[in-house]
Amino acid sequence: MNTPPLIYADNNATTAVAPEVAEAMQPFFGGAYFNPSSMYEPALQVAEALKASRETVAEFLGGVPASEVVFTSCATESNNAAVFGVAAANPARRHIVTSAVEHPAVLEVCREMQRRGYEVTMLGVDRQGRIAVADYVRALRPDTLLVTLMHANNETGVVWPVGDWARIAKETDPGIVFHTDATQTAGKMPLDLAGALKHVDLLSFSGHKMHAPKGVGALYVRRGTPLRPYLLGGHQEAGRRGGTENVAYIAGLARACELAQAHAPDMARIEKLRDGLQAELLKTVPHVEVNGAEAERTPNTLNLSCHFIEGEAILYELISYGICASTGSACSSGSLEPSHVLKALGVPFTAMHGSIRLSFSAYTTEAEVKRIAEVFPKVVADLRKMSPYWDQKNNRPRENIPGA
Ligand code: PLP
Repeated sequence: MNTPPLIYADNNATTAVAPEVAEAMQPFFGGAYFNPSSMYEPALQVAEALKASRETVAEFLGGVPASEVVFTSCATESNNAAVFGVAAANPARRHIVTSAVEHPAVLEVCREMQRRGYEVTMLGVDRQGRIAVADYVRALRPDTLLVTLMHANNETGVVWPVGDWARIAKETDPGIVFHTDATQTAGKMPLDLAGALKHVDLLSFSGHKMHAPKGVGALYVRRGTPLRPYLLGGHQEAGRRGGTENVAYIAGLARACELAQAHAPDMARIEKLRDGLQAELLKTVPHVEVNGAEAERTPNTLNLSCHFIEGEAILYELISYGICASTGSACSSGSLEPSHVLKALGVPFTAMHGSIRLSFSAYTTEAEVKRIAEVFPKVVADLRKMSPYWDQKNNRPRENIPGA
């Protein structure tokens, strides 16, 4: 049997490790194995490499001081450290503002805060995945401890103006801490913590979404932000995160940050390919909705809801053509519940289960996107032939679909 060549269109789930990143990590698996906290010469060189990596990441974040970068194991850890750390530092305030469409790495932490007696305001979104600024302003209260709102959504790619929202929080009350989960914008859009994001106090991101390996991330902590360490231990990361630094992976993350800057023009190319594919599929696939189409989106993400069919079935069909995509958040698959993000957007009942996320990277080629444009309409048409909601005889949706 001939296996079709793989077309990887699931880069919001994870990305391939770039060869340059793997190369940058190599020395630390060989001779440069020393603990960066040790006092002899070869270890001092490893400490020097760690320092250089921190400076590179700080540069990537808009030229912030390197001391404001804390290395972690992943974005989930960064988000946990942000929410629990801010709460521990200011027990007098007990209200948190977040949204219904956050990644579970924030949502579950906020739910835990609710169990601990905190009040959590979960902002809803409109059909395009946007939050009304009036709702946001109304949510801020004298006892608000923390705002945690994502920079871009992992399922739809919808980008929020978190720089403006952080400014509004500070103007309302400088005591409010503003955190953003930037896991889906890092490497795809500029993260300028000295400019557009200068009021953001805490920002999380992860290596494996930007061509570094899984198992490394960072938390940006603006100087003066009240934050108790969440992982207690040694003095590493200036006392903000115990545990011997994962120097190889940190060096990989730093190299990925450099590459992302070099790849910035590729993102404009990817956006064109995404927009072209979207326009094509809207022409060739009937009864399809593009979630977040009217909002600002990350350049690489296309989330489609196809009426009358199942996302999982689309996924399996696409895989038979070698195309890897996702029905939504990879982290929430494994349950039969439709995605909490699409529910919050109010995606119609007949389309909710038929959602597919295609997400590209700087390495995606025009030929790959063309192939997806060829295959997708055929897959949808084939599946509709088997759909209980489809009238085969007249090749149109059935009338009077229950629950629709
Ligand atoms: N936040 C967002 C928006 C994500 O998309 C993800 C991963 O899908 C995470 C957090 C969790 O990232 P990690 O796997 O690095 O913990």
